[in-house]
Amino acid sequence: MKQIINRMELRFPSGSVNESFARGAVSAFVLCLDPLVTDLNDLKTAVSEAVTNAIVHGYRDTIGTVYITAVIYADGTVQVKVRDRGCGIPDIEKAMEPLFTTRPDMDRSGMGFAFMEAFMDDLDVTSEPGRGTLVKMEKKLGTLSWSEDEE
Ligand code: ATP
Ligand code: MG
Repeated sequence: MKQIINRMELRFPSGSVNESFARGAVSAFVLCLDPLVTDLNDLKTAVSEAVTNAIVHGYRDTIGTVYITAVIYADGTVQVKVRDRGCGIPDIEKAMEPLFTTRPDMDRSGMGFAFMEAFMDDLDVTSEPGRGTLVKMEKKLGTLSWSEDEE
């Protein structure tokens, strides 16, 4: 088991105004790792895509709660989970194909999951129709190593 050195939780209503809040909050959380600007931008983009999906697809025309938890491991890896209790995804494999979208009417391009996959080291999506969706992603950001006795 990797040692966890910090964690945070956020919950907010699924208004589009909160897309930038979420990306800024996760970004601020990982600054202690002193990440490269390019890595930080990749993480921010991936978080934005996941949160936008929860807002636009998960809750669609309703307002629900979006949950984010983030954990920093001692090896400098961050794990971010973005969760909604919205409509869920019937076929995850299909949804993750580049250019697949169920909302072409909304000018969606079907590239959100492709970006998350490209910009993060690891991406895992679980979903249940009618119950919601969990997007779990990880990225190594820092080379810092905490020793066991440090907080
Ligand atoms: P883009 O992200 O380029 O604006 P998009 O959101 O349609 O377009 P993806 O982010 O790759 O593309 O998502 C693909 C499809 O997966 C969506 O069109 C939607 O049908 C489904 N999907 C993604 N996230 C969720 C979610 N949280 N809840 C329900 N359906 C989702
Ligand atoms: Mg999307």
